[in-house]
Amino acid sequence: VKTNKPTPTDLFIIGGGINGCGIAADAAGRGLSVTLCEQNDLASGTSSASTKLIHGGLRYLELYEFNLVRKALKEREVLLKKAPHIISPMRFVMPHVTSLRPAWLIRLGLFIYDHISRRTSLPGSKRIDFANHPSGHHLQQHYDVGFEYSDCWVDDARLVVLNALQARELGADILTRCCFKDAKRHDDHWDIRCETQDGEQRHFRARTLINASGPWINQTSQHMTTETPRQVRLVKGSHIIVPKLFDHPYAYILQNPDGRIIFAIPFENKYTLIGTTDVDYQGALEDVAISDEEIDYLCKQVNAYFKHQITRRDVIWHYAGIRPLLDEPGKDPKTVSRDYHLALDTDPGAPLLTVHGGKITTYRLLAEEALSLLSPFVTPHKPAWTATQPLPGAFKEISPTEYAAKLQQQYPWLPKHLSQRYAEHYGTLCEGFLRGKTQAADLGENIHADLFAAEVDYLREHEWAQTADDILWRRSKLGLQFDAEATTQLEAYLKSSDQTP
Ligand SMILES: Cc1cc2nc3c(=O)[nH]c(=O)nc-3n(C[C@H](O)[C@H](O)[C@H](O)COP(=O)(O)OP(=O)(O)OC[C@H]3O[C@@H](n4cnc5c(N)ncnc54)[C@H](O)[C@@H]3O)c2cc1C
Repeated sequence: VKTNKPTPTDLFIIGGGINGCGIAADAAGRGLSVTLCEQNDLASGTSSASTKLIHGGLRYLELYEFNLVRKALKEREVLLKKAPHIISPMRFVMPHVTSLRPAWLIRLGLFIYDHISRRTSLPGSKRIDFANHPSGHHLQQHYDVGFEYSDCWVDDARLVVLNALQARELGADILTRCCFKDAKRHDDHWDIRCETQDGEQRHFRARTLINASGPWINQTSQHMTTETPRQVRLVKGSHIIVPKLFDHPYAYILQNPDGRIIFAIPFENKYTLIGTTDVDYQGALEDVAISDEEIDYLCKQVNAYFKHQITRRDVIWHYAGIRPLLDEPGKDPKTVSRDYHLALDTDPGAPLLTVHGGKITTYRLLAEEALSLLSPFVTPHKPAWTATQPLPGAFKEISPTEYAAKLQQQYPWLPKHLSQRYAEHYGTLCEGFLRGKTQAADLGENIHADLFAAEVDYLREHEWAQTADDILWRRSKLGLQFDAEATTQLEAYLKSSDQTP
């Protein structure tokens, strides 16, 4: 049995999703000592299964969630500057359907969306005529007018890893494949027990405990000597990926007769991402998957708009995630608030902070609020800092395409598509595996689809990647180009380089 830290750390965080990693980075940057445990891979829970939007949520205006929309919209501009490599502005078009929402209501909603918080870099909304708009060509003919507005796109899983990287750079211990088992409360600290994937028991001591285990909260909170905090309501949301339905950079927001909206978003150059659903979930959190009904629902909603019709057979990939929402019994899943709630429990003994709900978009604000709630107990050495500090790999005042061009100047042998992918996935972090290379052969074996050994080695050494899934579905989306044989090849590479002394 190992006792890791004889003196207690300031914060022990359960959960390596966006909220856990965001809090870890913020706290470490304020000079606090931090340990985070994640039972699986970073972002292996909900934080890699989102629609991947940094958005205010136009739909939440209808639910009168003005506070959530305001703070989320303000955050778009902050996050764009923090991580321009993995977050980009995106224009959304909404075909107008008179029978679903009147035009005046949409105009009012968009006016509020444009003005409820300060917008500095993103253009505002406008009415569009589909006869003269690139997005119109793909829509069925009876859609003649619509609206266009701004939001942002994010690589959600990489946002988590970048926060973990920043936390580690600032001194945090980030432990993956390390499962929280139980915690015992004392007057001035917690004794915490975890188990690694190899079955090793690890013991920690911390002044404060933060439960950021997202959908697992109802389970993890039962293993703490304290009263169980408020439960989270588990609502499943699923997405499908099909060969691209359109070849322009606009995303579509489609209204459905059931009051929900579906997004159809350009994805990884060759595909369209379609989602999402809202279904109450009672199953095991380890087996979350899309159902046939959800696939049919998504196909049907999209087919009501596009000329090109899709069926189950077109689905190349799908994923499902669980929203850990604040429980509001009796409410329709689509109307339950998407805002977060931080529950601080200080009585009796060392503090426990439980994170309920939240959005990727508001993770940084959530972390700031968590730190201010905990500051009476752990006294941060520095004030809030994350609003203005970039995440690892961020380039300044250039676009990913401009950075890709710089990479090509520096490494003239690097193919254009690869420099673009590196710029959009890693930003300047790709220097970590490009530096010193003078020819393509220096990148090592091309495992498949231009995933070279140098990139895999970097991901293992620096970004906690251990398995083929970590690399293909979270550090990248190269899984879309890997069949079973290519995946076996990657697994073989991982195994062989494991054994290299
Ligand atoms: C379908 C869908 C679409 C969404 N779309 C958007 C969107 O477009 N924009 C947006 O802003 N938000 C969106 N969200 C919301 C957003 O994804 C979530 O609010 C956010 O990812 C929650 O992060 P989290 O860190 O709380 O949870 P998670 O990411 O689930 O992290 C919790 C982590 O805790 C770990 N864990 C659990 N138990 C233990 C244990 N015992 N020991 C150690 N670790 C443990 C889990 O493995 C997991 O990695 C969407 C959510 C869903 C489901």
